[in-house]
Amino acid sequence: MSLSSLPGSSSSSSHPLVPYGWDADWEAEFASYDSEGLLAGRVIRVDRGQCDVVTSGGVLRADTAFVTPHDPMRVVCTGDWVAVEPAGDPRYVRTYLPRRSAFVRSTSSKRSEGQILAANVDHAVVAVSLAVELDLGRVERFLALAWESGAQPVVVLTKADLVPDATTLSYLVQDVETAAPGVPVLSVSSSLGEGLDVLAAVLSGGTSVLLGQSGAGKSTLANALLGEDVMKVHATRDVDGKGRHTTTTRNLLALPSGGVLIDTPGLRGVGLWDAETGVNQVFSEIEALAAECRFHDCAHTSEPGCAVIAALDTGELPERRLDSYRKLLRENQRIVAKTDARLRAEIRRDWKRKGAEGKAAMEAKRGQWG
Ligand code: ZN
Repeated sequence: MSLSSLPGSSSSSSHPLVPYGWDADWEAEFASYDSEGLLAGRVIRVDRGQCDVVTSGGVLRADTAFVTPHDPMRVVCTGDWVAVEPAGDPRYVRTYLPRRSAFVRSTSSKRSEGQILAANVDHAVVAVSLAVELDLGRVERFLALAWESGAQPVVVLTKADLVPDATTLSYLVQDVETAAPGVPVLSVSSSLGEGLDVLAAVLSGGTSVLLGQSGAGKSTLANALLGEDVMKVHATRDVDGKGRHTTTTRNLLALPSGGVLIDTPGLRGVGLWDAETGVNQVFSEIEALAAECRFHDCAHTSEPGCAVIAALDTGELPERRLDSYRKLLRENQRIVAKTDARLRAEIRRDWKRKGAEGKAAMEAKRGQWG
């Protein structure tokens, strides 16, 4: 039973899971499970058939046997909202609520399959260090991944104190902005404590993940946001269902200024996974230009009436952007080609079925009017 169903606490703002991202939509989504007597909780860690779930009564361990089908995309992961049995040994996760967004990694194995890393992420913070030369291609790659997940990307330029002056810094921010249409670009200095308040305010409204290559300052950023040493926060002592003290590693943490941070080891080495939609969003200005090309299947190489080449000629579109766009699309196609054939076949079947349903509905409608 959720506390919100108790008299006197009817609004979801008083719910003890609000610091973990609980809101009115999740409450509505959970209502039928609530009436079954199941507990609402958010997964803070997954580990070999079990997961740790934070509920209004504290952290408990639950078995995921009911929700671990063969499809690697459908297993419970950190960030999921779940319905857990109120008692039992073991107690089981009965189901998880439909995800708003999901981060997926393509595995490097021969039989390339997606692996789900985090669910229900609102902000994907792409950390980029100003201590080294800017690599906009790398920024674009992380942005594609972020868009693909369904989260809103935010670029954070770290170590801003290493930039010699304010003018240089503003040029660097502008450079990144041209590579990141529709994405806020912030600069922070953890050592000087500058810009962190703005970032904390942006992240206070939801669940965030930190992306970026090693050395980008992700740990320092996490420490600054959490206000303490992350490794210490991650290892929290909890009491398990049998009254024993256990040390739990949490991959999902409530931020002191509001919002939630998911920091799983897997997210650090994340790659592209069938991210064509994401790639298109990163290069939205190229997509817009391509729509102006004379031929709809224009490859933007030497076709007459090509708006992309015209923009290259006038300098409106930097050549580096077009190269980066092509490189990411090629890379993405390679990953898609490697994808487990069974999974792909299933997706196609699903689309066909949806298509058939749509067609039947259209015909029924036509029949109605005819
Ligand atoms: Zn073209």
